[in-house]
Amino acid sequence: MALLIKGGTIVTSSEEFRGDILVRGEKIAAVGSGLDWKEEQTIDAAGKYVFPGGIDGHTHFGLSIRGARTASFDTTPAAVSGGTTTIIDFVPQPKGMSLLDASIKHRSEMVEGVSAADFGLHAMVMDAQPGIYDELPALVEAGIPTIKLLMAYKGTPFYSDDATIFKMLEATKKVGMLTMLHAENGDIIDVLEKRLISEGNTDPKYHAESRPPAAEIEATFRAVMLAQAADAPVFVVHVSCADAMAAVRDARGRGIAAFGETCPPYLTLDVGYLTKSHFEGAKYVCSPPLREKQNQQPLWQALQNGWLQTVGTDHCGLNFKGQKDMGRGDFTKIPSGFPGVENRLALLYSYGVRTGKLSLQRMVDVFATVPAKLFGLYRRKGSVTVGKDAGLVISDPDYRGKISAKTSLHGVDYNAYENFDQIGRVDKVFLRGKLSVHGGKFTGCLGQGRYMERETYTTAYTGGAKKRLHR
Ligand SMILES: [Zn+2]
Repeated sequence: MALLIKGGTIVTSSEEFRGDILVRGEKIAAVGSGLDWKEEQTIDAAGKYVFPGGIDGHTHFGLSIRGARTASFDTTPAAVSGGTTTIIDFVPQPKGMSLLDASIKHRSEMVEGVSAADFGLHAMVMDAQPGIYDELPALVEAGIPTIKLLMAYKGTPFYSDDATIFKMLEATKKVGMLTMLHAENGDIIDVLEKRLISEGNTDPKYHAESRPPAAEIEATFRAVMLAQAADAPVFVVHVSCADAMAAVRDARGRGIAAFGETCPPYLTLDVGYLTKSHFEGAKYVCSPPLREKQNQQPLWQALQNGWLQTVGTDHCGLNFKGQKDMGRGDFTKIPSGFPGVENRLALLYSYGVRTGKLSLQRMVDVFATVPAKLFGLYRRKGSVTVGKDAGLVISDPDYRGKISAKTSLHGVDYNAYENFDQIGRVDKVFLRGKLSVHGGKFTGCLGQGRYMERETYTTAYTGGAKKRLHR
């Protein structure tokens, strides 16, 4: 069965043109103008944009954080209805379990047969047993070429010290994997948290005070220097402030293969939200925390100029009632993170493209194309190209509305962007050729998402050539 999407404005990371897309089965079969075939179903996309399906390289579905569990994969229709056809989820590593076994468990118990979006998995170190470095070839074999370590959360399983990170960078380099780092100085935060609580400063806003920009900037600088010392690529997740962004940008200028992600909260929200009354500031607790507003413009500029490479969401579906409010009287007990997988495209378009901060091509690049390249999916996804999966988003630029929890599918009792103006809306989404959103409504089903074995960073980024990208 073939499908013809006619007359849309097709936007890729490098081009924008009016054209037609022929889809056969799960793949894009032709892209051109004046395509005309008889047998197919035709969809009129005149006046609409056609984007490649989004790839959100940073989600936490079904993750336990400080005694709370985030919304699970049965809420992934939120991703698809927001134009994200592929998610890459971080696999928690239970104590004593190998990284590979943790991935197999996460996939079979949580994701397989449930996810509405195609999915990949990132490994995440939570128990740095001596054997984890030897496991890397098996992870690559299993289609998991990325691994995250966290420099923050001292005294918890999430924390990794510099020795662990340096050894991991050296080991990942040998097999072509990409190391991802959560860069915040765990020691600074540990001291400040304890002091603030002992002084009776327990409100959500003190979460931000306990994690100052300097803690992130120092760790980001250390992250890129560890990568330089190991001569390995590194990817810094959720860069939240201007100077941390500069640390990643400047490292690239010095020839280090340093890449960085920022997230919609840091582009559109600021630290003031943490002071909302009735404990509602807890809704906005994430790590790194929301920053002063003056950081937003440099982050947009970084996306436009390619100084940062991707926008992921760090999606954590945590309810206010029963989860966020566990931290009343002690901000360190507020589970960190909030949802956003549904709103990524809408926020980038409304607050980036429509305000002139981001070109359409750059938006597609950070939303879909570079995540595909860096995370090893580019052979299949991330562009509107013949032979790739027909993950396609048809977006109506004339839509005007408001973001609201009432219309969200993310399974959470609030939306951090409540009442935000939204320009443009996802009208239709195709997941490997299958219509999954129609008229803005999710029409797909749970379980339609398929596991994506990903290629190593080096293979994917250089289009199959095994040569090193940097130096
Ligand atoms: Zn995260």
